Amino acid sequence: MSNKPVRVRFAPSPTGYLHIGSARTALFTWLYARANDGVFILRIEDTDQNRFVEDSLQQMMRSLRWLGLEWDEGPDKGGNYGPYVQSERLEHYQKWANWLVEQGKAYRCYATPQELARAKELAEKAGKRGAGYERMHRFLSDRERARLHDERGGKYVIRFAMPLEGTTEVYDKVRGKIVFDNSELNDAVLLKSDGFPTYHLAVVVDDYLMQISHVTRTTEWLPSFPLHARIYEAFGWEQPEWVHLPVILCPGGGKMSKRKPCKSEEGETIPVSVDEYIDAGYEPEAVVNWLTNLGWSFGDDREFFYVHETIQRFNFDRINPAPAKVPLSKLKALNGEHIRAMSDERIAQELHPMLEAVYGEIDTNKLLGIIPHIKARINPMRDAVPLVKFLFAKEFVPATTEQMIPRKMDAAQVKTILQRCYDVLNNLEDFSAAAQDKHIRALVEETGLKTGQVFSPLRWATIAQEVSPPLFESMEVLGKEVSLARLRDAIQRL
Ligand code: GLU
Repeated sequence: MSNKPVRVRFAPSPTGYLHIGSARTALFTWLYARANDGVFILRIEDTDQNRFVEDSLQQMMRSLRWLGLEWDEGPDKGGNYGPYVQSERLEHYQKWANWLVEQGKAYRCYATPQELARAKELAEKAGKRGAGYERMHRFLSDRERARLHDERGGKYVIRFAMPLEGTTEVYDKVRGKIVFDNSELNDAVLLKSDGFPTYHLAVVVDDYLMQISHVTRTTEWLPSFPLHARIYEAFGWEQPEWVHLPVILCPGGGKMSKRKPCKSEEGETIPVSVDEYIDAGYEPEAVVNWLTNLGWSFGDDREFFYVHETIQRFNFDRINPAPAKVPLSKLKALNGEHIRAMSDERIAQELHPMLEAVYGEIDTNKLLGIIPHIKARINPMRDAVPLVKFLFAKEFVPATTEQMIPRKMDAAQVKTILQRCYDVLNNLEDFSAAAQDKHIRALVEETGLKTGQVFSPLRWATIAQEVSPPLFESMEVLGKEVSLARLRDAIQRL
C-alpha cells in the first residue's frame, strides 16, 4: 500500500442533474479527503457527447455546494492538474492512445458497425458467449492494415489488446481480491473515430495525470475494473487504490431513475435528483446524514450525527459492500431531528425569506420568540408558514362564532367566559406564558368548567387557527395589546 498524499476526485458526467446516488459517491469521496487532509477534485467527464446537457455543470455545482461538498480543484477553481473538463484534454488521450499503439499494446480497428454486429451474431451462434468477436483487426499484417486504412478513408478506433489467456487479479478496498478470467474480457475501444476517448481511457489517463490516490466509484464499474487495471499495467503506471461503493437502490430493488421514480414504503415518490430533495424541503445536514448511513456505519448505534463528527471517523473499512436501499422515512425522521437541534437563529434565518414571501415584512423578534414553540412541529421547515399565520398575516381573519363555541355550550356562556378571561389577562402585568397559564387555570378551577371549554374559545378568539403553537406562548409573542384587542372583538361578536 502506498503512502501517497490523498487526492480523490468526483467525476460526474454532465447529464443534467446530480443524482442522489452520485451525491452519495461525492459525499464519501469528499469525506475521505477531509478525513485525511487530502484534496477533493471535481472533474467533468463530458467525452460522451450524447449524454451532454447544457447548463448541467452549473446545476451540479449548485447541488454539491448545497450539500456542503466544496472542492479544492475543479473547472471553476483551477489547480495544478487542469483543465478539469475532459473535452478540454483531448490531446492527452490521443497522445497516450497512440503511445499504446506504438508499444503494441493497443491497435487500430477499422471494422464498421455492421461488421461488428455480424461478427457478434456469428460468435453467439457458435455458442461463444465470451468476448473476442471484436478482435478481427488485432492480428493484421502491416500490409493488410495499410490497405484497410486506405480503403476505409483512414477511419478507425483504437482498441486495447487484452491478454488472451490467464486471469486478471485486481484488489478492491471494499471487496478484497477479485479474479477475472481473461477469456471473458473484450478488446475495449479506447479512442473513438472522432478522436474522443472512451471513459476507459480518459479515466485512467486523468486519474494518473491528476495523481489520484484513491478511485471511488460505484460497483456499476466493477466489470471494467480488470480492463482499467490492465491499462495501467500497459502504461507502466502504478495503480491507485480502488474503492467500489455499493449502489443505492429503490426500496423494492432496481435502479433509482428519474424516468421511472420509485415509491417509498409509504407509497410516496422518492426524489431522484438533489434538486428534488431541496424542493421537498429537506435540510442539507439531514440529507448528508442520511446519505452517510447508506452504505457506511458511524458506529455506536448512532444514526444521527453531524458531518464534522463523521470526518473524525470516516474510513473505507466500514463500508458495507451490499447495495443500500433508500429508506425515505429515515430521512424524514432525521430531518425533524436536525431541525429540532438547530439554533433558533439558524431556523429564523431559513424561515425569514419564506415567511416574507407570504406575509410581507417580518418582525424578527416575534419570529425568534415563536421558534422555540414551533421547532418540534415543523418538518419540513416550511410547515412553519401556516403555523405562524396568526403572528404575521397582514390581515387577521377572526374565527367565526361557530368555531368559538365548543359543543354543549352556547354563545352567552362563551361570551361570559371570554369576558372573564379578558379581565384576568388585562390585569396581568407580566404577560408571560407562565403567568397567563397560572391565572387562566385558576379561572378554570373557579368556574368549574373543563379546561377545553375555556382554552378552546380563548384560542379561537386570539389565534383563530385549527393548528397552532401552544396557546399561552403564542399570546405572549403576539403581545398583550394585540391579544386583548382580538379578545375584545370576539366578545363583541358573540
Ligand atoms: N463519469 C463516470 C460516471 O458518471 C464516473 C465514474 C468514475 O468515477 O470513475 O459514472
